[in-house]
Amino acid sequence: MILIDGKKEAALLREELKKEVINLKAKYNKVPGLTVILIGDLTPSQIYVRNKEKSAKEVGLKSEIIKYPENIEEKVVIEKIKELNTNETVSGILVQLPLPKHIDKQKIIEAIDPSKDVDGFHPMNVGNLSSGYESSIPCTPLGCYLLIKKIEPNLSGKKAVIVGRSNLNGKPMTQLLLKENCTVTITHSRTKDLKTECLEADIIVAAVGIPELVKGDWIKKGCIVIDVGINKTDQGIVGDVAFDEVSKNAKALTPVPGGVGPMTIACLLKNTIDCFKRSQI
Ligand code: NAP
Repeated sequence: MILIDGKKEAALLREELKKEVINLKAKYNKVPGLTVILIGDLTPSQIYVRNKEKSAKEVGLKSEIIKYPENIEEKVVIEKIKELNTNETVSGILVQLPLPKHIDKQKIIEAIDPSKDVDGFHPMNVGNLSSGYESSIPCTPLGCYLLIKKIEPNLSGKKAVIVGRSNLNGKPMTQLLLKENCTVTITHSRTKDLKTECLEADIIVAAVGIPELVKGDWIKKGCIVIDVGINKTDQGIVGDVAFDEVSKNAKALTPVPGGVGPMTIACLLKNTIDCFKRSQI
């Protein structure tokens, strides 16, 4: 079984991006810039944002964090986003989720200029992705996609089962694999027989949020299994896939932690650079 080393793959991607930033600087005499807005003081969000800034700086991007207190008014954040939309030194804007309850997430997402939407959540990018046009692609599914392609470059005709239909993970994952000519089944909490669906799959992507939901006897021999889940349990952090059981049948499997997670941030950097490149055309 191939243990997919997300840390290693993310480091390789960051190395490529670093070279790309050097070339872009030589060509345009400027570097892509990422601005992250952080509202409130939730510890996981602060850690994510710090990691994003560190990685951005490592690959040579201009990186900025704008912090607001928990009780900031929605209109102040929207005004700031509008200002960033017109700021030429800002290639990508990300508002760290989750947001405080009094702020409308969708309004914030839609305030971001789609050409600077490095999370790929703006309806324009969602629509472009599902129509097969160029768009920003949500970072976690993009990371999963790159890991799958490393294992199996030709995905045409493969049967993929996506477990979970969130806008963040399951739906964009479906679009990416459809574009690769996979036959995709998207499953969710009302799916009647998840085991039978999974047993058909050449590729499974699990993004559910239930510890070790996907079992060893749900896996066809040779299946590629990507585990997006991050679940805190008494035994520590575990994924949505029962790792030990599944590793007996899978051809390749991502661990948790150290699988999809590191790719997510690397893909954010990739999206920032791609937004910059598109803005220079
Ligand atoms: P989410 O928005 O809560 O969506 C969960 C999805 O799972 C829903 O579509 C839900 O179905 C489905 N589901 C729930 N119970 C199910 C069941 N018994 N069988 C099949 N499907 C079921 O979750 P998310 O934001 O996509 O996140 C999923 C997991 O990924 C979480 O553990 C999260 O922490 C992790 N995550 C990891 C990364 C990373 O970088 N590695 C990034 C983001 C998220 P319904 O639609 O019917 O409710």
